[in-house]
Amino acid sequence: MGRISRESIDQVIAANDIVDVVSSYVDLDKKSSHNLFGLCPFHTEKTPSFSVTPLKQIYYCFGCHKGGNVISFIQEIEHLNFPEAIHFLAKRVGIEIEEDEDERWQHKREEQKLIYHALLETAGFFHKSLIGDAGEAARSYLTRRGTTISDWRKFGLGYAPNQWDALYQYLASKDVTDAAMLKAGLITRSSRDNWIDFFRNRVIFPIIDLSGNVLGFGGRALQDQGAKYINTMETAVFHKGSYLFGLPQALKARSDQLIIVEGYMDVIALSKAGFDNVVAPLGTALTLQQARLVQRHSKEALLLFDSDNAGENAAMRTFEIFSDIGMKASFVLLPEGQDPDDYIRDKGAERMASLIDNPYDRSSYRLTLAERKARDPESGSLRLLEYQDVALDILTEEENIVLAELYSDRVARKLGTSTERITQEVDRRRGRLQTDKKSQVADAVSGTPTDVLTMRRPRFRAESSNDLRLLRLLAEAPDLYKRKLDIQYADKGRDPFLVESLRGLDLTAPVRASDCHAGAFRELAGLLLSDAEAGTLTVATLLSRLQQLEAQLDENDTSSNEGKEKHKAEEFQDDLNQIRESLLQNMSSPGQDVTPHLRDKSYDQLFRAVRSEQLSWERDKKLALFNYYNERHEADKAEQAKREASVFTQAAALVRHSR
Ligand SMILES: [Zn+2]
Repeated sequence: MGRISRESIDQVIAANDIVDVVSSYVDLDKKSSHNLFGLCPFHTEKTPSFSVTPLKQIYYCFGCHKGGNVISFIQEIEHLNFPEAIHFLAKRVGIEIEEDEDERWQHKREEQKLIYHALLETAGFFHKSLIGDAGEAARSYLTRRGTTISDWRKFGLGYAPNQWDALYQYLASKDVTDAAMLKAGLITRSSRDNWIDFFRNRVIFPIIDLSGNVLGFGGRALQDQGAKYINTMETAVFHKGSYLFGLPQALKARSDQLIIVEGYMDVIALSKAGFDNVVAPLGTALTLQQARLVQRHSKEALLLFDSDNAGENAAMRTFEIFSDIGMKASFVLLPEGQDPDDYIRDKGAERMASLIDNPYDRSSYRLTLAERKARDPESGSLRLLEYQDVALDILTEEENIVLAELYSDRVARKLGTSTERITQEVDRRRGRLQTDKKSQVADAVSGTPTDVLTMRRPRFRAESSNDLRLLRLLAEAPDLYKRKLDIQYADKGRDPFLVESLRGLDLTAPVRASDCHAGAFRELAGLLLSDAEAGTLTVATLLSRLQQLEAQLDENDTSSNEGKEKHKAEEFQDDLNQIRESLLQNMSSPGQDVTPHLRDKSYDQLFRAVRSEQLSWERDKKLALFNYYNERHEADKAEQAKREASVFTQAAALVRHSR
């Protein structure tokens, strides 16, 4: 798919009334003054908390907090990505979509098509090989693991024959080119310079996305030579850090939880035992991108990892990733040394279900493991000192006071001491932790002038950002974007440098993207201001611009970036998430009908705050630069930075106060 033009996106939104579209999935009957209500299609409920606001063309659920415009509704309910949802809606009303087919894009798209085709043919070939004569060894391996043909079908399992070029010959007979096979990661050069199959004599697990495209494969060796598991290398369509095995099957379970396991066979073992909401990363530890994918499709992640050192460490790391993105995660703890498959075979599906229904939070998981490790393997008794030290550390790190108290009690009983003594020791350790943190901050001030100048304003926080409030107001009353700030300059008797610099800053100009927080928010602001100029800005288009930026981010293929770039992309994504959440929460409350006068007044107030905040930030940067040069005794440069800082100080004050 090419990049869809803005005009087409707007047209699709305009032609698909949200009430019509939602009504084909949800009975909207309850009415309030601004909203229609129905039972939420995204979570189970008995009283309607799903609302549609026809005036703003948005929906919002007060129960599960999902919301958006007509495009995001279709994305969510049909499991489509942004462009797919647009095509879906365009088809619904019979609109032709314009896509800019710039050459580079068109080329990429053609290439992708060929790769997808090669992969699909391959998946079919592998599956047939598993069922056919060649697949006997693979079938007996899978049968030994307790699976049956219906599991193989459900996950599209296959077998890569034990030959050098069985797949190559097959694909060639289907007119798939060498280039397409190579780009799909299916073949490789042999030492004798022939094309040979990448997967040979392996059980095959296809990785399939939500649109049904095969992206790549995981292969498990049937012999003891070579790596036990290999995966398709990174290709134009396969990025092992950004997709999950089993996701299409798991979403059919329509559960609020997704169970995360370590390997492909774990997914299949659990599915056999009746747990369908299970996914696994693709042969690596779970990445941030994969965590976000989980977040998009569920409310809670349950980490069900092998109960050994490697599995426990991986579970902790994975938990931290979920906690970084603000998603709830819990641990399912197996008996020592077991993996999910072992456990189900030993104890059965019911016992597994009861483990899954009683997951551990972070501290109780860590405390339980600490206790296990401090048990003497022979006598089974608890080595008290060892346990005490680890347990106290865990309690010290527990930020939830209620939980900390609860677990202090538990630890006290294990140690045969009073809860009070444990609490005292935890408080003492907390104090020490705080001091350590402070000294780390003090050490961190150093660097180069460019570090100072590229310093970013404290991270965008949606709940406290005036610039976001300003844009929201603008979306509801787009004609406001032309308003200038009323500022009186008093030039008389002033330093000419100051006067000239202030003029240069053009402080009265209507709001501009550079008034806003740098990064994702500024990009969004740029798009919206040009919409306002074109007269197409509405609340629903605001949401679609957000989606557009997200789609671009996906397209720019952040998975292959490393280090700083990757970090930036992640920050960008986080900002977008925050913006969306905040917009939805605020929009779902019925807007108050304000008089134009009041509206203008609050716009001016916000506008002044936004512009002066940005100017103050510029001043802070100049002051940091001043300090930097001052410490290095570069007097001229320090003086210059100081003069510039004072310009911004004056400018910020003018914007904030003059009328
Ligand atoms: Zn809901």
